[in-house]
Amino acid sequence: MSAPHDPSALSVNLAAVPSHGARVAVSAAGEVFGFPEAEFEIVGGLRLRGRLDRLERDGFRLRARLGGELRLECVRCLGSVPLDVDEEVDLVYLPRVAESGALGGGERALEASDMNVSFYDEDRLELAETVWEQLHLALPVKPLCSSDCLGLCSSCGADRNRHPRCGCDENTGRSDRSGLGVLRDLAGFTEIPG
Ligand SMILES: [Zn+2]
Ligand SMILES: [Zn+2]
Repeated sequence: MSAPHDPSALSVNLAAVPSHGARVAVSAAGEVFGFPEAEFEIVGGLRLRGRLDRLERDGFRLRARLGGELRLECVRCLGSVPLDVDEEVDLVYLPRVAESGALGGGERALEASDMNVSFYDEDRLELAETVWEQLHLALPVKPLCSSDCLGLCSSCGADRNRHPRCGCDENTGRSDRSGLGVLRDLAGFTEIPG
């Protein structure tokens, strides 16, 4: 009938998961996941290790650890920002028919509100989708190479971390990406002219 469960498979055949659960041990290069264009680069590969258990009713629970190393872009200077990902994953997967609420409504709704719930179709679990979502949860909203990154000069584009004095007139830097120009202007505005 169906092939036995393969712990390294990105596309899990749920029908092959035994009643006592199954191991998940995915380890692959970034490109294997087939992610769309992203705001991060995967350095090396990604690892997802843990277990997939059957729920008492239809559904599965994944408890795993997602690891890898990403490279993001600093929002101020566009420099590289390394990010170590080491995330605890605890997700419940329900068959998509349950989403409509037609089956076992109340209980399902409770489960859904208490836990991170995703849905699967046709007895297949696409772990690449899970990894993609979990990576995004791990991303900082505004990646910075350092909390006091000075950003780029809005006139000449020089990296102000390396060239604090690029020679441009600072007073013209109103569209400074870092907002420091605006802050400087505000500070200047409140000063009593000497
Ligand atoms: Zn920066
Ligand atoms: Zn400049």
